[in-house]
Amino acid sequence: MFHVKHFSYDVIVVGGGHAGIEAALAAARMQAYVLLCTTNIEFIGQMSCNPSIGGLAKGNLVKDLDALGGEMAKIIDASAIQYRVLNTKKGPAVRSTRAQADKKVYCEEALRRLVDEDRIHIKQFMVTNIIVDNNKVCGVETNTGQIFKAPAVILTVGTFLNGIIRIGDKSYSGGRANEYASKELSACLKKLGLNVGRLKTGTPARLDKRSVNFNVLTEQCGDAEADPFSFETESIIDNQLPCYLTYTNSETHEIIRNNLLKSALYGGYITGIGPRYCPSIEDKVIKFSDKERHQIFLEPEGRESNEIYANGLSTSLPIEVQVRFYRTITGLENVEFLRPAYAIEYDFVYPTDLYPTLELKKIKGLFLAGQINGTTGYEEAAVQGFMAGVNATLLLNNMDPLILKRDESYIGVLIDDLVTKGVDEPYRMFHSRGEYRLLLREGNAEYRLIDKGYKLGLISKKRYERFLQEKTMFDSELIRLKNTFIDPRKIGIDSVENIRAYELLKRPEVKYDDIKKIINGVNNEKVEREVEIFIKYEGYLRRLKEDLKLYDKIDNIYIPGNIDYKNIPGLRREFIEKLDKIKPITLGQAARIPGMTPAAVSLLHIYIGKKRV
Ligand code: FAD
Repeated sequence: MFHVKHFSYDVIVVGGGHAGIEAALAAARMQAYVLLCTTNIEFIGQMSCNPSIGGLAKGNLVKDLDALGGEMAKIIDASAIQYRVLNTKKGPAVRSTRAQADKKVYCEEALRRLVDEDRIHIKQFMVTNIIVDNNKVCGVETNTGQIFKAPAVILTVGTFLNGIIRIGDKSYSGGRANEYASKELSACLKKLGLNVGRLKTGTPARLDKRSVNFNVLTEQCGDAEADPFSFETESIIDNQLPCYLTYTNSETHEIIRNNLLKSALYGGYITGIGPRYCPSIEDKVIKFSDKERHQIFLEPEGRESNEIYANGLSTSLPIEVQVRFYRTITGLENVEFLRPAYAIEYDFVYPTDLYPTLELKKIKGLFLAGQINGTTGYEEAAVQGFMAGVNATLLLNNMDPLILKRDESYIGVLIDDLVTKGVDEPYRMFHSRGEYRLLLREGNAEYRLIDKGYKLGLISKKRYERFLQEKTMFDSELIRLKNTFIDPRKIGIDSVENIRAYELLKRPEVKYDDIKKIINGVNNEKVEREVEIFIKYEGYLRRLKEDLKLYDKIDNIYIPGNIDYKNIPGLRREFIEKLDKIKPITLGQAARIPGMTPAAVSLLHIYIGKKRV
């Protein structure tokens, strides 16, 4: 049953991609009436590029989102065809989950969850204009001539702003293959005074499965033992599909090199900056010319799908050249394309225009989330969408915003990087971007974040109580292991006396499973794993937390919104300009602005202190 007065909502979400889905669901579940408008309802939740969720550091983002009450983890669990945990041979800080998705099922699951929320209306149209009055957003205008009003609007329009698709020297306007670009909206944002730049990205061809010779390829199967993405999903699917591994070779590289100037990128047709870490194959061949081959993963796009995604072969070369070099690759000798590879250039808004809530500094109530903020990737988009949805709703209710710190979540790292440092190339998450990686593990996401999600009303009581039980189990297990002396000789360790199980577990060669050979475990794999990691890294974690106290201090010193930096005695113009541009909300954020010196931060600190007295 709908309760909304026609044409008037609490929150309007523009875009039904990964950011839009999370924004709409979070706001509606926090009791806001939401309009989600998108250019094509069939493409809600569309994976524009690779059919997978997660991967290095991205998996951490998805788990953090799940711990806060977001939906991406559950959508992928409902549509996954393969799971893998990456970096299992490395330390726990850098392990991440990745799942292949059935693309079609992913979209269906996303749409179903939106439709299931009574407070969300979905409408298909293109937003052409944002209505702003007195620096406050009031609503949106559409290409169908309608006006919808709301005190909060979240733009999540991805690669659609002024998008131009390029294949060789051919180009056409589009937000994604065969979808309209959003031109008027881009012009509107510029008119509103936002700082708009240009980026690019690309995608490989989709192959006809029947034309691939899988017999000569190496199968890559999923992990039988992986955890599901969501902490609420009980177990992973047992009928996983394999991916296949192949390689480029010298012939592939030669064709690419010989035709380089025909590519949209090297032919000078593209001006936008591309993602450093998802380069096109022509980029890889040129920049890593010493490499004899590049790895290619052939990934099924779904259980019923006839399409294969050629991961690693993104290109903007003309179609005939694409076909030629693809056919030099083992297994692809007779390959037929269903869809060609292409590059896309699009407008984005410099995220330094935003507060850490993702609200624009210039326009109250207008939030931006996802690829529009210069990021790349579904996961980066989804977490921003969630945070924008939450913060828009909190704003409407005059409540304190949700701002996550860098030691709390990769979501905090992502948003702090965006709004404090800005971007000059598409931003993707990496473990190395987080200073506190060991604190931000996938496995402890609920320990770090579930309280916040529960307080926002986005985590069910049942789930929260299950977590509390688990946490109690974790705490009592630490105590039990401290109080239990065991004989290490039983697991082959030389010793003259019994040792506390806790101390024994600190040794690198001893695993919780070894301790279980002597005394019982707690019968909960997740808790056992967390206990083991906690004990092994306890010293390191303690030192990390000491460091954090220092940061915490300056991150808790708030800068008054009405501060005039010009009045700070001795502060150089260069720093005044930086502070004026970023408008940091805490002293910690000010200290992280690129180029700020400790002396400048100290002057600011003294000034804020004096203002308070
Ligand atoms: P999107 O998922 O793009 O969703 C945008 C939504 O906004 C769509 O639903 C659209 O219909 C809607 N919309 C747009 N304009 C309007 C309007 N005016 N009115 C109403 N609705 C509107 N990511 C990677 O991590 N690695 C890659 O290699 C990679 N390659 C890519 C290659 C291509 C060609 C493309 C197009 C994307 C690629 N991506 C890649 C990016 C990935 O698709 C995005 O990061 C992710 O989808 C962004 O999510 P989003 O929610 O911000 O936007």
